[in-house]
Amino acid sequence: MSGQTAPAAPEAAVTVDVPAKINPHLGVGDARADGYHALATVYQAVSVYDTVTAERRSEPGVELTIIGEGADTLPTGESNLAHKAAQLVALYGEIETGVRLRLHKRIPVAGGLAGGSADAAAALVACARLWEIEIGDAELHRLAAGLGSDVPFCLKGGVAVGAGRGEELTRVDARGSWHWVVATTDTQIPTPECYEEVDRLRAEGIGRFSDDVEPIVKAFESGVGADDLARLLVNDMEAAAVSLRPQLASLMHGGLEEGALAAHVSGSGPTVLFLVEGSKHASALARRLRMRGGARSVHLAHGPVAGPLE
Ligand code: ATP
Repeated sequence: MSGQTAPAAPEAAVTVDVPAKINPHLGVGDARADGYHALATVYQAVSVYDTVTAERRSEPGVELTIIGEGADTLPTGESNLAHKAAQLVALYGEIETGVRLRLHKRIPVAGGLAGGSADAAAALVACARLWEIEIGDAELHRLAAGLGSDVPFCLKGGVAVGAGRGEELTRVDARGSWHWVVATTDTQIPTPECYEEVDRLRAEGIGRFSDDVEPIVKAFESGVGADDLARLLVNDMEAAAVSLRPQLASLMHGGLEEGALAAHVSGSGPTVLFLVEGSKHASALARRLRMRGGARSVHLAHGPVAGPLE
């Protein structure tokens, strides 16, 4: 019959790629009454991706398998953020069947790149599509923010200002693309420990809340060159991260000696980001960093890139 199409069969599997995030500006204020610190941050999604595949499963519940970065150490049960996200969507949509999640991790684990939050965002999107549940923007944002402060940004990608504890987002219309070399280290800095160190240093009069994001927002909107962006990078957690893990300082100096335009601790660390001129400069710096040693792994990335909703 002409003019009529059969309704599309529900998909048996949905695959979603989700990028890591960096914070070119991370201003950290005082701890609030709820224990979270007030943030004034600018996020950028960068081209290091995890992939989440959601498949139908007739038995109820979530089954999660992980391959890639950290597969041997990450939890696959309810404490995994992707698992939690799938459960939330099932609850929201009153779904009685289950889901099999396959997670391919490439985002370095516990590196201040929000890998867990990215996986949660991808699982929200993948499960909602798999089960054909319409979740409005506001509701999706609420579910995401309940999973973690970085999860709402991980849904969106691009560039955005984050206020509150990072979850109150305002999109930034960035013009341009910036290149980074991402150097991970063997050490770990649990995020709460880094916030405690920020508080301790502040009590000694070291550091202050960099709450003005306007200069870097304007720079992204006008598409500044990497040279100019280098002077605008801010991380109020950097002194705390270096104080807890002094070896970060030598990695940062090493990258600068090898020609990086700027060295910037990613979030609460311990990953270090080096801003470079472009992709050729990135490859050359990555090669030199690998030869010098001191980094566990070195990745190339550029941003901004789109998130799983865009
Ligand atoms: P944050 O800054 O949000 O603390 P991060 O970017 O430094 O995080 P993640 O890779 O998100 O680092 O991991 C932080 C911790 O979260 C890990 O040590 C791990 O135990 C837990 N976690 C739970 N789910 C995941 C996941 N899907 N991927 C990575 N880590 C996860």
